Amino acid sequence: MNSLCRTRIRLDNLLHNLDLLLSSGKPLMPVIKADAYGHGLLAVAVTLASQDIDHFAVGAVSEGVELRRAGIRGTVLALLGFSPLAADTPNLSPTLPSMDEDIRAALTHEITPLIHDWATLERLSELTRDWQKHSVSIAIKCDTGMARLGFSPKDIPLVLDKLAVAPQLRPDLFVSHLAVADDPDQDAFTHEQADIFRDAARGLRHFFPEIRLSLGNSACLLAFPELAGDLPRPGFALYGGNPFYGTRRDVLGIGLAPVMEVFAPVLEVHPLRAGQSLGYGRTFVADHDMTVAVVGIGYADGYRRTSGAQMSLNGMRAPVIGRVAMQMTCLDVTDMPEVHPGDPAYVLGGESRPVRADELASWWGTIPYEVTCLLGHIQR
Ligand SMILES: *Cc1c(COP(=O)(O)O)cnc(C)c1O
Repeated sequence: MNSLCRTRIRLDNLLHNLDLLLSSGKPLMPVIKADAYGHGLLAVAVTLASQDIDHFAVGAVSEGVELRRAGIRGTVLALLGFSPLAADTPNLSPTLPSMDEDIRAALTHEITPLIHDWATLERLSELTRDWQKHSVSIAIKCDTGMARLGFSPKDIPLVLDKLAVAPQLRPDLFVSHLAVADDPDQDAFTHEQADIFRDAARGLRHFFPEIRLSLGNSACLLAFPELAGDLPRPGFALYGGNPFYGTRRDVLGIGLAPVMEVFAPVLEVHPLRAGQSLGYGRTFVADHDMTVAVVGIGYADGYRRTSGAQMSLNGMRAPVIGRVAMQMTCLDVTDMPEVHPGDPAYVLGGESRPVRADELASWWGTIPYEVTCLLGHIQR
């Protein structure tokens, strides 16, 4: 969408965060799903690949295809697995792939699908029946407590039975996902999930000694690298988020540097006299003479309509006042010297007093992951 606000992606900070995470000594499979959490799929992948990263986790198979088309090599895992739509069901959208189309795309581009249910396991086996032994890379997803995608641990022996009659399938990865690794008060559940995962992996490892285990997300990698498996999958921390922000483990993510900055220019600066109201609904009324800066970003850009936020402007913090509109937001700049049209107001980041994603998230009543995903739709 064309508008006056922009995001700036600090790839230097991405590299800094990568170095920090690699200091755990483990190889990593960075999670770059959802357009790299809004940071730009290809720019992030190319930057990581330049540092010899050769495992990537995306969401849909089509995201993996985009990586291949851009020349990214190595393992590309599609965390959403195959589309669940049978080829003969009426298609809700012509751009939504069927399961068979996703399978063909994954085979063509050598994308490793996350196999999490019987339907996809069976269909993939059928469609690749004539392929050579161990020629089709797959990842097996086990649900250890997230209760989202995945086979139950007790089904793993049955999965092994199915693999025994589909020798073309090569389980490269055994994957599970943690629900509360970022919450120091729930360590017991994290350890429970890790135990279940290790036990479930035993049978698979017996038949497929090369299989690699992938359990840890950012929080697990920072707090419990020993539980994270052979190939941890950090996302959030790579983009500079501290999963332990505001908890007693805060220090673990202290060196991470934010990768996304979002700014919009001031469009106009004008006085607001005591008693005058501002904006839609007249929700804000000046109780003293004020100065207002109108900034070119609004809810159409993903800047939420929720009140309480601040922006970083000319090295100071300015509070949002009145209702956020579709493409404009007003700031109280009364106590700031010299604000001019064209000055960049930082919604995220800033030269000094930078706005952190965690802060914006708390003003908006959400988590910082949602902040970068939303604002990541803004033009770079
Ligand atoms: C998003 C995601 C991750 C990454 O989690 P972070 O908290 O961003 O590190 C890892 N694994 C799976 C399955 C995911 O969906």
